[in-house]
Amino acid sequence: MFKKILIANRGEIALRIIRTCKELGIPTVAVYSEIDRDSLHVVFADEAVCIGPAPSNQSYLKVPSILSAAQITGADAIHPGYGFLAENAEFSEICADSNIKFIGPSPDSIRKMGDKAFAKETMRKVGVPVVPGSEGVINDIEEAKQMASKIGYPVMLKASAGGGGKGMRIVMEESEIEKAFQTAGNEAGAAFSNSDLYIEKYVENPRHIEIQVLCDQHGNFYQYGERDCSIQRRHQKLIEESPSPFITNAVRTKMGEAALLGVRSVNYEGAGTIEFLVDKHQNFYFIEMNTRIQVEHPVTEMVRNIDLIKNQILIAAGREIEDKPLDPRGHAIEFRINAEDPDHNFRPSPGRIEYLHFPGGFGVRIDSHAYNDYVIPPNYDSLIAKMIIWGTDRKHALARARRAFEEFQIEGIKTTIPFHKKVLENEKFINGDFDTSFIDKHININ
Ligand code: ADP
Repeated sequence: MFKKILIANRGEIALRIIRTCKELGIPTVAVYSEIDRDSLHVVFADEAVCIGPAPSNQSYLKVPSILSAAQITGADAIHPGYGFLAENAEFSEICADSNIKFIGPSPDSIRKMGDKAFAKETMRKVGVPVVPGSEGVINDIEEAKQMASKIGYPVMLKASAGGGGKGMRIVMEESEIEKAFQTAGNEAGAAFSNSDLYIEKYVENPRHIEIQVLCDQHGNFYQYGERDCSIQRRHQKLIEESPSPFITNAVRTKMGEAALLGVRSVNYEGAGTIEFLVDKHQNFYFIEMNTRIQVEHPVTEMVRNIDLIKNQILIAAGREIEDKPLDPRGHAIEFRINAEDPDHNFRPSPGRIEYLHFPGGFGVRIDSHAYNDYVIPPNYDSLIAKMIIWGTDRKHALARARRAFEEFQIEGIKTTIPFHKKVLENEKFINGDFDTSFIDKHININ
């Protein structure tokens, strides 16, 4: 087993990883930027190293500083969490060259499955349906026009290096494509230093349903069922749940099998998520794979009674997966509490938390790095807490979520809590009748 694990991340996920390391008896090293000096991951890790100023590119993305921190402290493994360097094949390669185990898939797997076009090709080859679209990057507007008329409008322009819903544009007809091509390209360039775009058929009013997998070096490829992440704003997830209230058991089984076909074919190792769009007839289409742990992983942990981070660490250490898939138990639903103002187009609301009270009781899990008087810096993403509710069934989970939100108090900043309360009162949501257009259509926000 590893002697010491460095966590190359911050916020709730850094804390989440430290918790599992402690339970496994593995010492931890936190890294932090100057603005994160008073963060909980710094307090709870056994050691902490400052790696630079607040901007990510001078700290959490700065590979030499992170490797030096690992070398100085004698860490023999690095957990990247999600975001930052988690899907950076070069970083995983540099770790290997420095004799530090990257807790995640091999550089080769990240390159293959992290590249959206390659991943689609891989899935197509093993017979999994993929969203129709261009095979690779679209080079210019003429090519975009030709491809779009071949696929048929509406289409979607998407960033090859995409993530977090950035660099994405829906194009309803040819007259809109030129402008969309430019704006999506610019947005992708600014966000990912890579303005490459590809094109896909726009699936109208789909569900976003994804499958969690774990694969070890001993030929075990397991899937742990689905998470329905259809409640999104600007293509970013806000609520995730399992089981999906929409798909039939037959479709659920088929999606799980499709996910396993894909990961087996590239000999994948580690935790991963295979994402699908599902249309109203329950046809599913692969869109992309995330080669890392995801924000919404606790949903699966609660219904499958499994610690996914623990299994990631075991896999990286060359052990077999300990937790084989069990039948799901009850219903879990995660609400992302972001420091954002839902009444002003979800604009970020950083600043001091003047008062904080977390809900508790049976079936309420809070994953958060926030505390009374904590100052949320403006430099990073706005997720400050995840509330994961477990109930015996969906109805029970929703009732429990409503009572938990009554207890939840945050003052000093704006959060997504009022938005979640509105969703929990919505008849369609209560009936499980929603798709990715739900917020735009049914939740009245300014
Ligand atoms: P990112 O990597 O930026 O998260 P994804 O490819 O995972 O991008 O897509 C994010 C969301 O955007 C999906 O969950 C879905 O709501 C929407 N989306 C993506 N591709 C399509 C498509 N072809 N048709 C309709 N919606 C899509």
